[in-house]
Amino acid sequence: MICRLLTSDEVFATAHRRWHETYDTRPSDARFSDGRTTEEVCALVDKALTAEAFAKAVGNKSWTHPSCDMCGQTPRVVVQIKHEWSDKQQDFCKACLSQALKLFSVISDADATP
Ligand SMILES: [Zn+2]
Repeated sequence: MICRLLTSDEVFATAHRRWHETYDTRPSDARFSDGRTTEEVCALVDKALTAEAFAKAVGNKSWTHPSCDMCGQTPRVVVQIKHEWSDKQQDFCKACLSQALKLFSVISDADATP
């Protein structure tokens, strides 16, 4: 198991590249659900120098912040747990991980140790 912190700085570092990989082939006059065109949003994205500015440009934090796999919230930091020999991974916010860890308080350490 590999356990580490995943931050919004790390997610934001690849946001511009991922955005352009997704939307560069989309027609520039195609509209998003809020009515703005691809060209308009891409212009704002290219000017965004912070995660907050990028999130404001696209209308959500999904491109710039980690997402908790349990609650779907997008905090600045999550714990990422990865399997060593596969691509399986899950991200957890502090609230969800804390709630899960409380379950161990009702059993002995011996019962909880492999
Ligand atoms: Zn959560």
